[in-house]
Amino acid sequence: MVVEIIVASLLLIVAVVWFAKRSKSDKNPVERSEQSSSPENLAVTSLLDATMTGMREGLLVVNRDMRVVASNPAARKLFNPSVATLQSQRLTELTRNPAIYSAFLDGLKGIERSGVKVETHGPERQIFDLRVVPIGSANGNGAEGALGVFFDITRTERLEIVRQEFLSNVSHELRTPLTAIIAFVETLENGAMEDAESCQRFLSIIRKNASRMHGLIDDILELTAIEGGNVQLRAAPVDLFALVEEVCASLAAKAAAQNVTLKNDVDPEVMVYADERRLEQMLTNLIDNGIKFSREHGTVAISHESGTRDKIFVQDNGDGIPSQHLERLFERFYRVDRARSRDMGGTGLGLAIVKHLALLHHGEVTVTSELGKGSTFIIHLPKTKRD
Ligand code: ADP
Repeated sequence: MVVEIIVASLLLIVAVVWFAKRSKSDKNPVERSEQSSSPENLAVTSLLDATMTGMREGLLVVNRDMRVVASNPAARKLFNPSVATLQSQRLTELTRNPAIYSAFLDGLKGIERSGVKVETHGPERQIFDLRVVPIGSANGNGAEGALGVFFDITRTERLEIVRQEFLSNVSHELRTPLTAIIAFVETLENGAMEDAESCQRFLSIIRKNASRMHGLIDDILELTAIEGGNVQLRAAPVDLFALVEEVCASLAAKAAAQNVTLKNDVDPEVMVYADERRLEQMLTNLIDNGIKFSREHGTVAISHESGTRDKIFVQDNGDGIPSQHLERLFERFYRVDRARSRDMGGTGLGLAIVKHLALLHHGEVTVTSELGKGSTFIIHLPKTKRD
């Protein structure tokens, strides 16, 4: 935040100097007369011009009549990309946004304004933080003009929304098992402990909910590490058949409990290029889901196809996923049936982890699904290392 304030202040200083230079060296403030400038002046002016032209922040200067006397390309893009220049246009012709108008009006009265939030509602919604400063003094009668800088804060705002949603989801997800734990502890304290059978049952419910919280925290930490760029891949050729065998063995008990058959259809010679531990994690999450969402006596089959990229298929013949959910399936905490997922100990983060790990490999994960027939998740991996 401090850095942003310093950068914003520097930009404003540069912008004011630029405007002052233009006004001084110009017969007309817009069409500069280069002959009248000294070489030093010219060098400084072209440096400032280049800065104003290259900067991402929109810059707009209006005179006392609220007409534009200077602007840069970023401002033109913001207000009206189709016109060649904003020159001489009235501010009211450029925008109907009252927040912008009132900030510039204050600037002309000699009042500096900052933190004015401006939103555009074009095809691409953008959010700006507008700062307006007065320029020059009109003999104690307000300012000669006002200079506004539009800082694009769209990305910061979007990240803030994602952060808030994430926090609220996490709190919600933690509260459910925690409430159950507290309720069963209270029941035990209120006498259920005397009955050995109830005691055993309640303790196992408490353990199940505590494990859920544990799993959730592990997944959150994992996802945060991956997204924060704190996971380094050690990619190398991996024997896919052997890896799938390992993952299937580790999930064999779970599959047997659900009467689900795991089938390794990968050719024993296949080698893929990946971080073995991370690929194991992706396969575990997908095969585990295949088991969870399979039907009784269902099958989860893992196969491979070679092309411009390696494709690893995890296919189940479970209930399938309604098509309207497919687009959001890899989002954090997105679940088709929240209650069912929770019931099966799901955190709602497994697919998000798979997605981020696939991206880290410069690959991706996709899904196709047919209701009543089953789903196929596909991990796409580049053939060799890509930086
Ligand atoms: P969860 O912990 O709930 O499994 P995931 O991120 O792994 O979280 O999956 C998100 C949701 O996607 C699941 O809750 C489920 O609704 C759906 N899903 C994932 N895999 C399958 C599958 N093989 N068949 C049907 N639905 C699935």
